[in-house]
Amino acid sequence: METRLQDITTANIERLQLKRLQSIVHTTYSQVPFYRQRFQEKGLRPEHIQSLDDIKHLPFTTKDDLRMQYPYGFFAVSLKEIVRLHASSGTTGKPVVVGYTARDLDIWAQLVARICKWAGVAADDVAQISFGYGLFTGGFGLHHGLEHLGATVVPFSSGNTERQLALMKDFATTVLVCTPSFAIYMAETAEEAGLNPRSFGLRLGLLGGEPCFPSMREEIEKKWGLKATVNYGLTEVIGPGVSGECTAGGGMHISEDHFLPEIIDPKTGEKLPQGEQGELVLTTLTKEGFPVLRYRTRDITCLSTESCTCGNPFTKMEHITGRTDDMLIIKGVNVFPSQIEDALQQIPEVSPHYQLVLTKKKGYIVGMEVQIEISEAHFTDSFRQLEKLEKKIVNHLRSALSLTLRVRLLEPKSLERTTGKTKRIMHMMVAD
Ligand code: ADP
Ligand code: ZN
Repeated sequence: METRLQDITTANIERLQLKRLQSIVHTTYSQVPFYRQRFQEKGLRPEHIQSLDDIKHLPFTTKDDLRMQYPYGFFAVSLKEIVRLHASSGTTGKPVVVGYTARDLDIWAQLVARICKWAGVAADDVAQISFGYGLFTGGFGLHHGLEHLGATVVPFSSGNTERQLALMKDFATTVLVCTPSFAIYMAETAEEAGLNPRSFGLRLGLLGGEPCFPSMREEIEKKWGLKATVNYGLTEVIGPGVSGECTAGGGMHISEDHFLPEIIDPKTGEKLPQGEQGELVLTTLTKEGFPVLRYRTRDITCLSTESCTCGNPFTKMEHITGRTDDMLIIKGVNVFPSQIEDALQQIPEVSPHYQLVLTKKKGYIVGMEVQIEISEAHFTDSFRQLEKLEKKIVNHLRSALSLTLRVRLLEPKSLERTTGKTKRIMHMMVAD
């Protein structure tokens, strides 16, 4: 089934995509009542899809659509053929349950192996998986992909940081697989125990599941002495293995023989020209158990217009700069947390640890405080210096965002650390 990478060129990829798109459109039309109904409402039949451009006629799929069909409404095969279930975390509502056939699992492992290879993982690596195992796709996804590649897998799962560190040393782990937040937390835990993370000998970080902003990447690389690489995926589409960075860096190659990417304007749903920033929409081209047409990821990125120096024929997506559902409206100004992140990165005295505390009244944001940890190297007891730094940050944020925000400086390590994905936004309600 796997199309060998070396066989793929820009000319034949489109032919392959169209063939697979037509097949998945037929399957979803005949097997998934939700899609059949959407097609019928639009007067659309599978045979109307004659070119890749015709994808614009297909209906979108949203997270809410998937939730409404909880648990199995989107499955395109019977449960007899499903051999594995996973689910999204469900922190913002009902979880989305996804199912995989044996062939889906096989392809998934190949796709994850592929991104690991792009990142530079080899068969003689010892890869410690510190993503959670369970319904979350991160642990099992990376597990089977790395095994497929031939690496030695240490299936640790998340949490239990001291023991992770002890075994990392004993097992001579070379590749750390986790969220960027946990990679930082583990390094800090090692330092607190009087150990230098660099002495562990890690050479590569395979990071994913949440944004890895430049300041986080820098901190991870500096503390561990490793090369950080980032990969992207989501449960609704497959899990990890949708796209990943190659050694050339600067964005993540999308496995376009299995996922068809589009960038749309999140407001109008119109497709945007290549190179423009918008919401990433993905169509699965080969999945049997849980195929999705034009899934709206809510992740904001853009597709590169240039070919990569590494020779990989697949298009690159840039690192995610935010999510459409993250947008905050403060005093009438639209702000993405990633813009605040960007602005904070330009100030050397602050660490990558921050959180936004929103005050809401009647559902509206009436205030926001940016709580930031001062970096260890710049921490001081001098009140005057702290006050000066606070002013500097407020001014910097004002010029970057055209917004005056409250800033609260915190001692290093005062914000809660996580073994999974960091929650940056906290809500506080006030009485009406
Ligand atoms: P859950 O919904 O349980 O948190 P998922 O793995 O399905 O788990 O989460 C997928 C989301 O995680 C993506 O839509 C995206 O917002 C985020 N994500 C995953 N990988 C990256 C990455 N490399 N950069 C930025 N965001 C990422
Ligand atoms: Zn490349």
